[in-house]
Amino acid sequence: MLRIGCHLSSSKGFKAMGQTAASIQANTFQFFTRNPRGTRAKEIKEEDVKSFLALAAEKDITPVLAHAPYILNACSKDEGLRKVAKDTMADDLKRMEHIPGNFYNFHPGCHVGQGVETGISQIAAMLNEIIKPGQHTTMLLETMAGKGSEIGGRFEELREILDQVEEWERVGVCLDTCHVWDSGYDIANRLDEVVREFDRVIGLNKLKAIHLNDSMNPLGSRKDRHARIGEGKIGYDALARVVTHPALRELPFFLETPNELEGYAREIAMMRRVWEG
Ligand code: FE
Ligand code: FE
Ligand code: ZN
Repeated sequence: MLRIGCHLSSSKGFKAMGQTAASIQANTFQFFTRNPRGTRAKEIKEEDVKSFLALAAEKDITPVLAHAPYILNACSKDEGLRKVAKDTMADDLKRMEHIPGNFYNFHPGCHVGQGVETGISQIAAMLNEIIKPGQHTTMLLETMAGKGSEIGGRFEELREILDQVEEWERVGVCLDTCHVWDSGYDIANRLDEVVREFDRVIGLNKLKAIHLNDSMNPLGSRKDRHARIGEGKIGYDALARVVTHPALRELPFFLETPNELEGYAREIAMMRRVWEG
């Protein structure tokens, strides 16, 4: 069965997210670990986690993808801000142990003029400090649009980060279709080539999840503005090919399209139909 879900609000806790997911035929979902623009985290309630785990088992909701606040920058020029990123993600990883066996996705960071190589080593250094042996969460580096000094717009950059991480088994990649398109990978016309390129540079065994979004902008625009499925420049047919691609179809897909719940429900149903063929 297709694993597909969407981004959900975490304000009412895990059980509420599980119920919302089930109500729209989602069997996976993503949420922000805390305010995406801030760093304050909500307390995790044992009761809520317990009811969620029971519901997730009953409704077969797995995996859960936590998303780090996107203001965090592991390769900021400012040491204080690098520390904020490190401490926040370390705390998130600790909290994720309440729901073991899931994923924690983050934006690698912006090198802000320090240069790609410096940025890459700062990101890897942070990962080496916060990933604990025996941890039950896999950290995912998200492919980025390559906006400004963003790291992760090229598969090579992600590979370089992964190569410097000691806990190799605890890191992977989340491919965002809007981002790779915006950074110049033509998934609309050359999906097979892009998949082969990912495999050559990073290895498909490191690909753990897909953010399924259309893009408001043309190939290589480096903009990062998500569109609804079929309402952007990538298009419905191309995104249907992503979901059904033999190398990708068993991965979990997460919609981050500009939608309310009904819109997500429609896109989920649409993708289930093409997946089942
Ligand atoms: Fe993201
Ligand atoms: Fe994304
Ligand atoms: Zn984005």
